[in-house]
Amino acid sequence: MTARILVVEDEERIRQFLKRGLTYEKYAVETAVDGKEGLEKARDNPPDLVLLDVMLPGIDGLEVCRRLRAASDVPILMLTAKEAIEDRVAGLDAGADDYLVKPFSFDELLARVRALLRRAQPAQPQVYRFADLELDTGTRQGRRAGKTFDLTAKEYELLELFMRNPRQVLTRDVIFDRVWGYDFGGESNIIEVYVRYLRQKTEFDDLPRLIHTVRGVGYVLREEE
Ligand code: CA
Repeated sequence: MTARILVVEDEERIRQFLKRGLTYEKYAVETAVDGKEGLEKARDNPPDLVLLDVMLPGIDGLEVCRRLRAASDVPILMLTAKEAIEDRVAGLDAGADDYLVKPFSFDELLARVRALLRRAQPAQPQVYRFADLELDTGTRQGRRAGKTFDLTAKEYELLELFMRNPRQVLTRDVIFDRVWGYDFGGESNIIEVYVRYLRQKTEFDDLPRLIHTVRGVGYVLREEE
């Protein structure tokens, strides 16, 4: 059952970033560019979750949140550029279930989205398996050939992305979006560095390579040919 997510965000770049990432995760995504359109879409085709920007032209996000909440129990995740505690409190007072401060990485957002969608239906931790490699979403550890290894936060996010999309070539842009977020301004070889870390952890005892480079494009998790 595909969860339906309504994204209400006036900033084109962030709206497209969210739509692209969530669609890739197999959510059905509707977008609205302001509060008025958001309220109309929520009324005409009720979503399972709303991602709602606070700073919107016209009816602002807090007011949209109040009106949505008056009409339904749909989970609402507010996106705010403001760090100020009073804005977070205002959002929660208006009926939001959670909020995320910009800039955020896509995986942070995805974790919140999953948590909100899960509340009604708690799921067990999952173990991804590919060939002889396993990734436990509960312990956030990897395991290969009977040997368990720890992962840093970013290593885990990157490996989870590969494990969720086996045999699919992941472009550098997708990996950047998903693991580092749209505002990442660091050195351009960060993906190479983290792939190297993951290879070090998964290729012990001369085990065959699983994370392969696709020259000029990105990377793919697959068995050696
Ligand atoms: Ca905005």
